[in-house]
Amino acid sequence: MNLSAVAGLPEIERGDDLAALIDARVEFEDGDVLCVASTVVSKAEGRAFDYDDFDAGERSRAIADRLAEITGDEKDPRFAQAVIEESEELILEAPFILAVTRFGHITVNAGIDRSNVPGGDLLLLPEDPSASAERLSERLGVPVIVTDTSGRPFRYGQRGVAVGWAGMPASRDWRGERDRDGRELGVTVQSVVDELAGAANLVAGEGDGGTPAVIVRDWAFGDHGGSDNLFREEEDDIVRAALRDWEY
Ligand code: GDP
Ligand code: MN
Ligand code: MN
Repeated sequence: MNLSAVAGLPEIERGDDLAALIDARVEFEDGDVLCVASTVVSKAEGRAFDYDDFDAGERSRAIADRLAEITGDEKDPRFAQAVIEESEELILEAPFILAVTRFGHITVNAGIDRSNVPGGDLLLLPEDPSASAERLSERLGVPVIVTDTSGRPFRYGQRGVAVGWAGMPASRDWRGERDRDGRELGVTVQSVVDELAGAANLVAGEGDGGTPAVIVRDWAFGDHGGSDNLFREEEDDIVRAALRDWEY
């Protein structure tokens, strides 16, 4: 398997045809997968906003006050307001905002970014990253994974995850296959879109590299069952349930 960044992409602006910009710089081959940072998908889709676009309400002011108290830094309540508006539910309001986005991804601050956003204060995730992936995939003729850098429980450090995908299943289902001992695998569903997103994110980097699009070549899903379940259902998520009841 080979990963390479698409070279020479410009700063992406609202309304840019991202598919055309990528297509002009890549000779796609059969079997390629395109991983693209949500940052540029969001920019193209006009998801950059200013603080002034959000009117802080009572809840967002309370959250900002609480976070300021905890961190010792002034917090803009309009940021909390943006997170609330992007979310189905806030699982935690402190010591950080842990949000369930409308498309099911659970992440700090609903994935709203303040880095790599020239000329704007806030960059929201795409409204429906799998729909974005679908549009790009249709234009480019390859599977597409929309990625974001995200933190994780139990470990320090952030890594790339898939927030949307199209043209391939999210996971490889190994259940029913056998290990080297002949034992039948009973639980392993391998989240390949996250693994590819992690690898692509490694190539894309986090700073000013200018390499949001990464081509995965000579990788194959293989002869396995597939599934699109990536975001845990609420009733199936004991961590979410426990955090809801937890008081900071
Ligand atoms: P995220 O992980 O989706 O939040 O994206 P990051 O902000 O970490 O950026 C990932 C990569 O895309 C880095 O190499 C950035 O330099 C690059 N990047 C971000 N915005 C742009 C852009 O508008 N144009 C180009 N060419 N690269 C960008
Ligand atoms: Mn991000
Ligand atoms: Mn990143």
